[in-house]
Amino acid sequence: MQNIPDNMTVFSHTAEDKDALRRMVDDAIDAIFAAVRDDAAFSGISPYELRRMIAELGFLPDAGDGWDRTLESLKETILPNMLCTWSQSYMPHLHSPALLESIAAELVISVYNNSMDSWDQSPAATELEVAMINGLCRLFGYGDGSDGTFTSGGSQSNMSAAIAFRDLYLERNLGWDVKKKGLPPQAMKLRMYTSEIAHFSFQKSAHIMGLGYDSVVLLPIDDTARIDIAKAEDIIRKDKDDGYLPFLIVATAGTTDFGSIDDVSGLRSIADRYGCFLHVDAAYGSGAIMSRMYRDRLGDISLADSITMDFHKMFLLPISCSAVIFRDRSALDCFLIHADYLNREEDEEDGYINLVGKSMQTTRRADALKVYISFRMRGREGFAAIVDKAIGNAEYFYSRLISDDAFIAPVRPELSSVVFAHKGGDDVNRRVRRTLLSQGVVIGQTVYKGMVMLKFTLLNPKLTHEHIDTLISRIKQLAAQ
Ligand SMILES: *Cc1c(COP(=O)(O)O)cnc(C)c1O
Repeated sequence: MQNIPDNMTVFSHTAEDKDALRRMVDDAIDAIFAAVRDDAAFSGISPYELRRMIAELGFLPDAGDGWDRTLESLKETILPNMLCTWSQSYMPHLHSPALLESIAAELVISVYNNSMDSWDQSPAATELEVAMINGLCRLFGYGDGSDGTFTSGGSQSNMSAAIAFRDLYLERNLGWDVKKKGLPPQAMKLRMYTSEIAHFSFQKSAHIMGLGYDSVVLLPIDDTARIDIAKAEDIIRKDKDDGYLPFLIVATAGTTDFGSIDDVSGLRSIADRYGCFLHVDAAYGSGAIMSRMYRDRLGDISLADSITMDFHKMFLLPISCSAVIFRDRSALDCFLIHADYLNREEDEEDGYINLVGKSMQTTRRADALKVYISFRMRGREGFAAIVDKAIGNAEYFYSRLISDDAFIAPVRPELSSVVFAHKGGDDVNRRVRRTLLSQGVVIGQTVYKGMVMLKFTLLNPKLTHEHIDTLISRIKQLAAQ
């Protein structure tokens, strides 16, 4: 086959460019297929050895190496040491293999390279995002007046909500305009409340928002790894009595480790009694909305003022893909700022929607397209089958653990994560995970009540019970060594 000419630049309508793109995509697919393995998720190489090999690749040659030689280096050094998310031996994180059609959707997104900031940079993609956001608002039970935005991930979705509610709270309670004046003198009194096992993105957000980690109060959990509602109310009442300004409660629908789901209605009542907003971080658990069998586990999620959802977790779409939706669209005003070159008010009056006004980002990927393609192709039932498989596998694994004397599994799974430990103790569990990693089997590790625990996050719909059984035996063998 012909080499790709070195003068190829950007994609265009010409036959030459189309041929070159097809050839490069074919080459990339051939390289991927040649590297794919099914016996392990990872080569098992040590970080030092891999660092040395990557360093040898060099950085920026004076004269380019051309496509073919560059492809060789991809094949020789990089692909064999990439993590294989589709492997049955990969289960540490909320990190999945990608749905096939969404990989094709990524190609479309990259070829067009539209940007979501203004209508004139993404006409169809803007209208598609608006339509998908409307659909998602309905799916999660929001009515007219709701709105949202796609984001880079759950962390940005959560921070968007925290910023919006800080601003609204200060405007309504102190008549203070944060956008214009920055934080008020009372800012050190602001408090948001999350589960002690909530995601760290709230602390990070608090820091970036000028409130500091101390503004995030961690609420204790009960034996099911959910926020203890009675204790939560005591803490918030006391803070309010002491002159603090509780502005936000966060319920987690699917904690990162356990998949536990906080009681949204209980926290809604507290939020109403103390004048706070309520956000649900469903970065993980949002996928359960697709399942007839399990959606009730999310509780009455529509009672929240805002909801974070990640499509790159239970929905199995490629990274990155997330959204945050608000019951009242005025919350998004915190991101609105007009620029003469980009989002003129006169154009918006004539129906041109410029999504930059709803987002922390300016240039932004057309991620809604992937969601559209997969939703349209599979339908709700297709996604329900995927989610049911994941949760069903977690239930199977948990049932095996609790009937085996060698293990403890302290929390019954509600989603697809199972936290457990071999009874051999912390050192045994640490050693088991490290040994498995060096053999290409990647599992999770966390801490529960001071104990080192192992974790399976079972998002892969192809995972079988037999494979789970094999892993249990392998862990027992390693622990005995
Ligand atoms: C994964 C996760 C996040 C962070 O989302 P990213 O998409 O990784 O930024 C936030 N909250 C919860 C509960 C999560 O599981």
